[in-house]
Amino acid sequence: MKSLLLLFLFFITFSSAFPVDRLMENEEDMQLAQAYLNQFYSLEIEGSHLVQSKNRSLIDGKLQEMQAFFGLKVTGKLDSNTLEIMKTPRCGVPDVGQYGYTLPGWRKHNLTYRLMNYTPDMARADVDEAIQDALQVWSKVTPLTFTKISKGIADIMIAFRTRVHGRCPRYFDGPLGVLGHAFPPGLGLGGDTHFDEDENWTKGAEGFNLFLVAAHEFGHSLGLSHSNDQTALMFPNYISLDPSKYPLSQDDISGIQSIYGRPKVPAKPKKPTVPHACDPDLTFDAVTTYRREVMFFKGRHLWRIYYDITDVEFELIASFWPSLPADLQAAYENPKDKILVFKGENFWMIRGYAVLPDYPKSIHTLGFPSSVKKIDAAVCDQNTRKTYFFVGIWCWRYDEMTQTMEKGFPQRVIKHFPGIGLRVDAAFQYKGFFYFSRGSKQFEYDVKAKNITRIMRTNTWFQCKEPLNSSFDFGVNKEKVHSGGVEILYHKSLSLFIFIIIHLLKNIYSYQ
Ligand SMILES: [Zn+2]
Ligand SMILES: [Zn+2]
Repeated sequence: MKSLLLLFLFFITFSSAFPVDRLMENEEDMQLAQAYLNQFYSLEIEGSHLVQSKNRSLIDGKLQEMQAFFGLKVTGKLDSNTLEIMKTPRCGVPDVGQYGYTLPGWRKHNLTYRLMNYTPDMARADVDEAIQDALQVWSKVTPLTFTKISKGIADIMIAFRTRVHGRCPRYFDGPLGVLGHAFPPGLGLGGDTHFDEDENWTKGAEGFNLFLVAAHEFGHSLGLSHSNDQTALMFPNYISLDPSKYPLSQDDISGIQSIYGRPKVPAKPKKPTVPHACDPDLTFDAVTTYRREVMFFKGRHLWRIYYDITDVEFELIASFWPSLPADLQAAYENPKDKILVFKGENFWMIRGYAVLPDYPKSIHTLGFPSSVKKIDAAVCDQNTRKTYFFVGIWCWRYDEMTQTMEKGFPQRVIKHFPGIGLRVDAAFQYKGFFYFSRGSKQFEYDVKAKNITRIMRTNTWFQCKEPLNSSFDFGVNKEKVHSGGVEILYHKSLSLFIFIIIHLLKNIYSYQ
């Protein structure tokens, strides 16, 4: 009787654990499901004890958990959709447990990585590139940096392994199934990333794209867990994306930035490297004419304007003359269709786009004494073919015809060119006038009359909008101190005024 009751109870238990549809479940599929839930949902059932009701309800609970994670209908039954997801190649890191959360990250921001071996599926250079690009996916949105090392222990040790491997507590399962796994930040295995060598690794769309899998695994190495957002890189299943597109979703970015914050904004350089033509404080290093152009040098750049044309071109000096240094100090056009440019004790001779061979030469070959270490400005008077060199408060004069330094020089700048001040930064001749610049001021100088005819800003040449009250008052005729642009405006208003007067007079006349 006792044994009959036991048999009866056993029958009830058995039948409740295996309703009719459950009996349809394939034994092989059930084993796969059990292994899957063991590995990724910490089911922790050893061996095949499915007949036990306790285990069966554990499985049902884990199936529900897994179905909820993947957004499937939560039935707790091993239906075809659930089974399909379970058979999809994926990451070997569990979806739950301690991995169900974003973990504390690395305490440092500058991390190292090392490739322990390479897959024979790809060229070594392609593996290096895939790994580097995959790390860059994360460094782009965080303050993290990654440095490759080839010896010793790196924070992220990367290896291709198969099946049970070394001291790794995880294992691989041959082709398909698990593709890779990685460990969260920490010492020892922490940060380390393993790829299943039994997969076919590629840099393209066929097989498994190493860059995509690596980028996912490095997410774990940095402390991220799996996301149930199917658009996220941290979604556990392999989804073939276009590897040329940036693979992170907002979910991934928010996750990683919650650990490390945003990337650091690079510190502003102390000195602006690109000068602005309309900067009211613009100064020039050197200015020269060449044929029918004026060239204004500043740092690594130059502006070019053409005679009587308002267009301004802005270029790198190196784009014309790659061998010239930046920060030139003086330049002038000689009567033989050449430009001479100066920096320190050197000068170069240029014709068109060519720097002539055998340059630079020493400025002392022009006749300067050894005490002269640099030239501030130079300009050749095209009428007299004599070149003025400005060195500090002194000016020298050079005869281009005899190629000698003239006697009676140097003279004080203030004495030879009264009114322009003690020294100059740059000088050139344009339509007969000399233009001397000092700081952001420019002096238009009548050589024959030996006086200043106009004071203007250095950038008057660049069609900048004049700020209000921008004219300088140096006791010179104020009318002449405006830029050309303002004068044109004045002329235009005057013409309009005259036109209106004539029109009115005409009307009055026609009434009579
Ligand atoms: Zn993963
Ligand atoms: Zn491993």
